[in-house]
This record gives sequence, structure tokens and C-alpha cells, in this order.
Amino acid sequence: MKPKAIDMHVHLPTASFLEGSLKPYRALAEQFFRTAVPCREMDEVAKLYDELDLVGVLLGWDAETATGLPPLKNDEVAAVVRKYPARFIGFAGVDPWKGKRAIEEIERAVVELGLRGAKFHPGLQDFRPDDTRFYPLYEKITELGIPAIFHTGTNGIGAGAPGGMGIKLDRTRPIYLDTVAADFPELTIIGAHPAWPWHEEMLAIISHKTNVFMDLSGWSPKYIPRVVMDEARTRLQDRILFGSDYPFITPQRWLGDFDGLDGFSNEVREKILWGNAARILRLDPAPASSTRR
Ligand SMILES: [Zn+2]
Repeated sequence: MKPKAIDMHVHLPTASFLEGSLKPYRALAEQFFRTAVPCREMDEVAKLYDELDLVGVLLGWDAETATGLPPLKNDEVAAVVRKYPARFIGFAGVDPWKGKRAIEEIERAVVELGLRGAKFHPGLQDFRPDDTRFYPLYEKITELGIPAIFHTGTNGIGAGAPGGMGIKLDRTRPIYLDTVAADFPELTIIGAHPAWPWHEEMLAIISHKTNVFMDLSGWSPKYIPRVVMDEARTRLQDRILFGSDYPFITPQRWLGDFDGLDGFSNEVREKILWGNAARILRLDPAPASSTRR
């Protein structure tokens, strides 16, 4: 039996992430999401995903150059995936400012560690995705045949602080991904989150370029702008993906709220919860026990 859904957007609620990579931002992020986010062991998270019958895509994190904070190491992500291969898939955190080292790291993460995507946060990493200095990195990612996920829209991190703790919203405008998608038609790009307040800009990009997708993480489906959900039900049903943004939003909350929405056929629900992600991740249509390529 295949699992119920693929959660495309899962952060590790470990001390290494919350008290390491996110340390100065954690309290305000908790305020923004109106929830306490305690540190947990990944065994506990595996149990939760098991109970909910979900596959989770675990996201690495490396914003070391811009923030001076330690990365959540790709080796740590890979170790969790090795322990729970039926429950988790790993995406590598890559710091684009690390240049040649970033290119070597993404190759190592995929070839040696078995990770299956690259994760960027242009806000925290303080870079504009369409800057051609990063094109050699995108070339490598394209050559490796893995998708790249970029945070889009406003940032929960830094929200509610003077100067947004230095984080510039311009970095996370989706339009810069449009340039990358145009220049790298073979690269699968996932915009993380509904991209508010530029969600219509993002929908335009997705309509225009078949290599671009959106995950719906970070927002309860109840509050995602209506125009996004209308597109998800109809024209863009093959391009929209379920993601929770755990531990800031739990998958049980997200899925419960999604269940409560009218207007989604079972066929479309299946695409959003499973089919679209399975295609991007090149999963076998069959079982969770073969989640590795
Ligand atoms: Zn996230």
C-alpha cells in the first residue's frame, strides 16, 4: 500500500536546527505561527509520520554565510533517511555563497548521501536567485536531475522585529525564479509556500512554465488565498503539492483543514497529496518501501 500523502516540506525539530541554525529567530517564528515549537528527536517524528501514514521530505539548511549560524548538516538529514527509508526523503541544504564548495556539496549529498533535492531560502541566505553567479550551481543541480526548492513569499522568520531581523522580502519574490526557470528548462523548481503577497505572480509563472511547482506549506488550507486554491482545484491541479512546514504547522492540522474544504474532487486531492510529488521525486507508483531511486 502506498502511503496516504507526501509532505513536501518538513523541517527537523531537532536541537541542531531550532537551537542551532534558527537560534536567534526561533522565538519570533513561534510567535508568527502562534505555536510553541519544542525540540524533538527524529524518532518521535518518524512515529508521527508512521501513524499518519505519510512520507516526509526532510529539508537541510545552510545559511551560514549570511547568518553566521551553523548549518543543519546534510549528513544529519541523510542519517535520518537511512534509518527510516520508508518514511523520509531528504533534500540537501546548500549555501549558494559557498561557490565551488556548494557545487561539491550538492554532488556529495546526492551521490554519496542519497539525498534527492536541493533546498534554498533566498531570504535567510540573502541572495537573489536570478543572479548568474549562482548559475554554475544550478547547472550542477540540473545535471544531477534533482528538483530545487526555494522559499517564496513573506518570511515567518524575522517577522515582528525591527528591520525584520535584517531579512529582505525582495529576495523571496517569485519573479526571480521565473528567470531561473526560463534559463534552466530542465530544472524542476518548487516554490515553497503560497508565495503571499506575490501568489498571483507565482501562479502566472506556474501557468507559463511547466518546470515550476508550488507547495502549499506554512499556511492552513483554510487561509491560503482563494485564488490559489481555485487554481489548485482546476487549471494547475498537476502542479500544486501538499507540504506542512512541520514543526511550525503539523501535518495533521493541515490535512484536517484540507479535508474540510469543499470543491476538491478525490482525483484532484490525490494529485495534490501524492501524485504530483511522486512524479517530481520519481517514486515508484507502488510502495513506500522503495522510496530510493
Ligand atoms: Zn519551511
